[in-house]
Formats: sequence, C-alpha cells, structure tokens
Amino acid sequence: MNPDYVTFSKNVFIPVTNICRNRCHYCGFRRDTDSADAHLMTPDQVGALLKKGASSNCAEALFTFGEPGESIHEALAEIGYSNFVEYVADLCKTAIAYGLLPHTNAGPLSYDDFKVLKPLNASMGLMLETIACMAAHKDSPSKSPKRRLKTIEDAGRLRIPFTTGILIGIGESRGDRIDSLLAIRELHLRYGHIQEVIIQPFAPKQNTPMSNHKPPSTEEMQEVIALARRILPPEVAIQVPPNLMPPHLSVPYGASDLGGISPVTIDYINPDNEWPALEMLKACMRLRERLPVYPRFVLTRWYGAETEELISRYADEDGFRKC
Ligand code: SF4
Repeated sequence: MNPDYVTFSKNVFIPVTNICRNRCHYCGFRRDTDSADAHLMTPDQVGALLKKGASSNCAEALFTFGEPGESIHEALAEIGYSNFVEYVADLCKTAIAYGLLPHTNAGPLSYDDFKVLKPLNASMGLMLETIACMAAHKDSPSKSPKRRLKTIEDAGRLRIPFTTGILIGIGESRGDRIDSLLAIRELHLRYGHIQEVIIQPFAPKQNTPMSNHKPPSTEEMQEVIALARRILPPEVAIQVPPNLMPPHLSVPYGASDLGGISPVTIDYINPDNEWPALEMLKACMRLRERLPVYPRFVLTRWYGAETEELISRYADEDGFRKC
C-alpha cells in the first residue's frame, strides 16, 4: 500500500526526567535516582528548549519521562513541587504559552491524572509495547500489560486522542504481536480514540542486558507493519519512526506516518539514531505536516480545551498544519 502522502509532526523533544523505577532490559535511557547523570529538568531548562522549538517553527512539545513513581519526590521538592502531575501540568501550560501544543507521554497515569492533563494536551500517549508477559519486563513493575491496557482505556473514556504502539523484537512471538494489535483494535472500536499505532523496532543499547540481542530484520518489521495495517481500522495511522527504519522500507507495507521529527532536539530514547533530514525525505515522498493531534480529532474538537486557540491558529480546514 502506498498512501498519497505520509504525515509527520515537527516537534521539540523534551526528556523531562530519565529517573525510572523500572528496569526494562533493553532501555538505555533510564537512570536510578542516585546516578550521576540522573536528571529532572527544571522549569527553566524546559523553558529554554520550548523557546528553541518555538523559534524553529515547531508546533508540538513532546514531553517524555521515565516512570519514576515515588522515587522522584525529593527531586520534585527541590524545584518546589509535591506532585508529579502538578509539575507536568505546569510544563504543559508553559508550552502553550510558548505557542507549542503539548503531547504528554508520562507512563501509566490514572483516570484522575488524565482528567488534570487532558485540558492541557492536544493528544497524549502510552506505548502498550506488548500484551505478553516478557522476561525483558520482569524487573519493571509498571510494565504490566493489564495496567497499560487500563490506562489506554481510561484515555478512551475521557475522549483523549491517543497514541500507542508495540515494540518489536524484545522476545515476543508473532502471536503476541497479533494479540497486542487486536487488544488495541478492541479498545479503539469501543472508544474511537486511537489516532496512531507506532510499530517500533527494538534497537540494542550498550550497557543493557539486551545489548547483544539481535534487532528484528527488515522483513520481520515489514510483516508486522502489514499485519497492523490489516488488523487496525483504516482511520488509525501506522507510524514507523524514520530514524529506526527508512521510510522507503516501511511505507510500501502500510506505514503512513513518521511521527515527530525535530529540527532542534535528538531522539533521547534512541540517541544513536539521527532523524533523517526533512529535505531528504521530501525528495523521496509527498509529506504532509500534521499537528500532534490528528486531523479527524481537530475537526471533531476532541483536543484539550486549553489548546483550542493554538489549534485554530495552526490547523487548516482539513485539520492538517497550515502551510
Ligand atoms: S523503557 Fe521506559 S519504563 Fe522501561 S526502563 Fe526505560 S524509561 Fe523506564
């Protein structure tokens, strides 16, 4: 399948904290609270990145986090917060003030957390990764598939345009992949809120328990992309990050979105994989810029109320970004 165009969003990637209580065996991003290079970005540090993103014509502020749980309380107190969600909400307000639309991906939030963050976000996200219980997640309490499905369901109950995805090559079987896609499909059919599903290949990272584990082959990825396209309803986009798989290898199999491409920040989760230059991509395919909220949710106004003014400034009559 070759879509008429492939979508992307121009973003600034903000790794608010790398502190994480989980120990996913493939993760090179996480740090313990007492690691020398653990960080919780201060409001000033976040503000500086947002300013850079705004001056580079980005429309999206992508907020990403480890899953710190209680372990972050001390670090939060040092910057004057007693509550993680309260801090995230303030960062979203700052992004809006800079003219950027927040997309927050803050781990398995509760229904009440979503209620606080929904008005301040254009869309939100959480990777399902896999519905199977994996050895790679045995030291990661919040990677319970049941808990993650509940989070995705809560987002649906609150009508939050939502991004999720699966991780390929961490030891799951073909059947697990199908079951994961079917579970996402089932939630979307009930709530209609899934805007895109990321098919993300595992990429080995140095100094992790899976540093010698083989990544999925191109053919394996292409098979999953094609499966996803068959299983998921047509309105749900398939995103394959172009820094992890060249688009000319994913788009013919059903990928229709490249996700966020940043002119100002790296992919902090996969720092060795640079974004391809937009100009180079434009030479190979027709690209169309979207906002962090997909066009159909722009047209039906599912986005957070506090983002409305920016969305009406940025969106064209079809719900894409104005040229
Ligand atoms: S993948 Fe996410 S949840 Fe797992 S260890 Fe890394 S930061 Fe934590």
